[in-house]
Amino acid sequence: MSLAALHPDAIPAPVRAVCARLGARGHGAWVVGGCVRDLLRGAEVSDWDICTTARPEEVRKAFRRTVPTGLQHGTVTVLHEGEGYEVTTLRGEGAYSDGRRPDEVFFVDDVVEDLARRDFTVNAIAYDPLADDVVDPHGGQVDLEARVIRAVGDPGERFREDGLRVLRGARFVATLGFALEPATRAAIPGALDVFAQVSKERVREEWLKTVRKARVASPAFRTMAETGILARSCALLEALREGDGEAFEAALTALDATGARQDDPAFRLAALFHPLAGRQDALAAWLREYRFSNEERKRVLHLVRHGLPASDLATGPAVAVRRWLMDIGPAHLADVMAFARAVAPAPWHAELAARARGETQAGHALAVGDLAVGGHDVIAALGGQGGRRVGELLRQLLEDVVEEPARNTPETLRARLQELTAPGEVAGP
Ligand code: ATP
Ligand code: MG
Repeated sequence: MSLAALHPDAIPAPVRAVCARLGARGHGAWVVGGCVRDLLRGAEVSDWDICTTARPEEVRKAFRRTVPTGLQHGTVTVLHEGEGYEVTTLRGEGAYSDGRRPDEVFFVDDVVEDLARRDFTVNAIAYDPLADDVVDPHGGQVDLEARVIRAVGDPGERFREDGLRVLRGARFVATLGFALEPATRAAIPGALDVFAQVSKERVREEWLKTVRKARVASPAFRTMAETGILARSCALLEALREGDGEAFEAALTALDATGARQDDPAFRLAALFHPLAGRQDALAAWLREYRFSNEERKRVLHLVRHGLPASDLATGPAVAVRRWLMDIGPAHLADVMAFARAVAPAPWHAELAARARGETQAGHALAVGDLAVGGHDVIAALGGQGGRRVGELLRQLLEDVVEEPARNTPETLRARLQELTAPGEVAGP
């Protein structure tokens, strides 16, 4: 791979303007990290990070609008022409006595010192757009050309300083499409006990970044599996490698098949986890443990549970299609079909989608909200009592109506409610 040239014109004017403002005040300023790496390899830059010799309070004084995003780490967000840029004071490497976070942050004046604390050589290049000067003490450009992810300094030491770095390395295998340099890779197993101490939130963020940033994300998970990272962070997925490993391969294939959905990480994780439909409780517990949002958790579980409909739905009785729509929630039809098409494409999907749309358009009740009676009717039938029973009875009515749509009239359903709530009657599925 030949690298794109670093040139002041390659840096957006507002970013240069931020550097120039700091320069005019006598401070050094560089673009650094992921943006320089992505610029050199000709990829789109998502955010521009700037590092500077200016202390955070000096950065705040130099610009009219700033946000103290991470003052304790030396980071100030500068708002310039409607965009935010993270400006971070040069830092040295603090001790990581617990492998989770530096014990202390200290500021330095030499950009070379700041680059030495960074994780991989390709992430440890700084560029001064005013002087048109590249600072690359660890051979980052050579490694970029060779498409290699190499730790800065001694890999074993660097991985044990911050256990998250092993996972970041696996992530870059997919997001950059590079290979781990052999000594870097070989150092991972020796750092797994430190990795196991890393906070679940940081691990979750790397998982999300992997599926957001890599169209072909499987190399990250394959690397995690082969180096032992996966066994230490997701035993459920690791267990799919047992036997001939076919289930694990199916998980990776499905993950890559959703490459067009990088904006939808829950969709992609559901594809990865789809072989775990039989272990939904354990999957739910894992998603909680790693602090995925409630929304992400529900979406992953919903797709894992319902995302692969049975083929006989395409040819069986209409009532089975209605039952299925009731189970998935009719509002989720498009999502579920998109998932099925991506993960296990089959010719009968078109048939099923058409039949499902037919049932929806026929106006049949498929959700509680479609019933000809509402919660107030149920409460009246219960003699004024609310509570959980109301939802249960509505669900029972819906199941009746899904079996026989003609029953969805107020009269029929009120009569049925009388039946279901008659003394001594035990209703329910
Ligand atoms: P991406 O483009 O995928 O965001 P990135 O390299 O920008 O990749 P970030 O997490 O945004 O990754 O971090 C920005 C920079 O900070 C990195 O390029 C690297 O120089 C440094 N860095 C981030 N995390 C660590 C870490 N755990 N240890 C050492 N350096 C790190
Ligand atoms: Mg970044």
